[in-house]
Amino acid sequence: KPIIIWFRKDFRLADHAALSEASRSGRPIIPVVLLDEIVETFGAAPKWRLSQAIEHFENRLKQVGSQLILRRGTAAVELLALAQETGAGDIWWTRAYDPKAIVRDTKVKTTLKDAGFEAKSWPGHLLFEPWAVKTKQGGFFKVYSPMWRAVKDLDVAPPDPAPQRLLAPEFWPDSDRLQDWALDKDMDRGAHVLTQHANVGESAANARLANFLRGSIGEYKDRRDFPAQSATSRLSENLTWGEIGPRTVWHAGFRALQEGQRGAEHFLKELVWREFAYHLVFHTPEITHKNWRSEWDAFPWSDHEDEAVLRWKQGRTGVPLVDAAMREMYVTGHMHNRSRMIVGSFLTKHMLKHWRIGQKWFEECLIDWDPAANAMGWQWVAGSGPDAAPYFRIFNPETQAQKFDAEQTYIQRYLAEKASDPGPEAMAFFDACPRAWGLSPDDPYPTPIIGLAEGRQRALAAYEAR
Ligand code: FAD
Repeated sequence: KPIIIWFRKDFRLADHAALSEASRSGRPIIPVVLLDEIVETFGAAPKWRLSQAIEHFENRLKQVGSQLILRRGTAAVELLALAQETGAGDIWWTRAYDPKAIVRDTKVKTTLKDAGFEAKSWPGHLLFEPWAVKTKQGGFFKVYSPMWRAVKDLDVAPPDPAPQRLLAPEFWPDSDRLQDWALDKDMDRGAHVLTQHANVGESAANARLANFLRGSIGEYKDRRDFPAQSATSRLSENLTWGEIGPRTVWHAGFRALQEGQRGAEHFLKELVWREFAYHLVFHTPEITHKNWRSEWDAFPWSDHEDEAVLRWKQGRTGVPLVDAAMREMYVTGHMHNRSRMIVGSFLTKHMLKHWRIGQKWFEECLIDWDPAANAMGWQWVAGSGPDAAPYFRIFNPETQAQKFDAEQTYIQRYLAEKASDPGPEAMAFFDACPRAWGLSPDDPYPTPIIGLAEGRQRALAAYEAR
């Protein structure tokens, strides 16, 4: 009897526990992707990036004699129908940990089991299952550093190699065509702008890792905070879609550490931030939508999406580093980590807007959008999360620019209004943004929506009065 493998955010053949086991079993394998109730809710950029991942994966599967089946509808209904149609015995998938996915997957499991099928979820999205890592008292970690100390010496099994060939079923069930799903329909800028910055597929992800290990890892610790420099791995996009497995990245980082590469330990620590985000999301699912610390519920953050919020989204706040960062995200689908912290601080502190507004816009625009890292990142910036930056730590975008973009390379790369001879990235924004915004690179650069000192004082006063 065939095994159905339901791919969700694990578009790879290597380092894939479920696929390896299925291929070892000698049984036929039917790989499937669903446009289900959760994918329907993805933001525009993640949907577009997902379609790229699927397209590449379809080709990759063909190379090993297989085929990707595409079905649209509620996950439990579609998987049950497919299992009945193909006579499959088992339905397997790589586990997800965010609250929406858990609700869906639980429903899928019960539906399939009630109908007599074997449904099984596998590890693979993380290095450590969130329930397997515990504090000395047996609880979960609310602070990052002790979690790092608890996991850094744990054994991580070596990644499984990619199967050379997948056994095909006697007949292939019908499949939708990817283009009929129109996952790019809200993403006009996908094909002509974002595509130049995306790095899609398993082999591209591996090449990116190899490149990082050959190059920037040595200087990662010293240069990772400078947004104009390509000093970080940029693997978040591939880890998000599972085009590379975390075990592969971990082992590669570990080898670099043993070879004495400076920066390797710091890199491994960042991978554990990703684990920490999932640890938190699993143990406190409300982190995705509610202040993790409820004392923040009374804080006067505004939910109102006014003109100021629009200008923040457009990169027109009049604060160059904030604006460059927002444009970086709009045209590349990525934003440097330091910039994420700066635009987040500006929104939630200088502008006194709720972090959920920022969380939502990132969800719309990031090709590495991840429900756990995004939620933790926003609550960290806002000060409402566990192990968060204190609210009174307000990033000053001017000082940040002097420190981390002293030559204004980043600002000028993304902000046409600030460059004498704007380059392609700066101009791409005007090509990409909706006509309704009515923006032109010749517009004068706007005056700040709020003075930096005034915004800071207002934020601190709100904090004191809370
Ligand atoms: P590297 O510096 O090369 O780090 C290696 C890997 O470690 C990354 O690929 C990522 O998987 C992980 N990592 C690094 N920093 C973090 C972190 N702070 N939290 C969790 N994992 C981390 N990351 C996402 O992947 N998706 C998001 O939607 C996301 N939203 C964020 C929102 C805010 C407000 C903030 C402050 C951070 C957010 N991050 C998010 C975390 C971080 O900014 C990105 O992971 C990082 O910029 C990715 O670049 P990189 O791959 O070059 O990272």
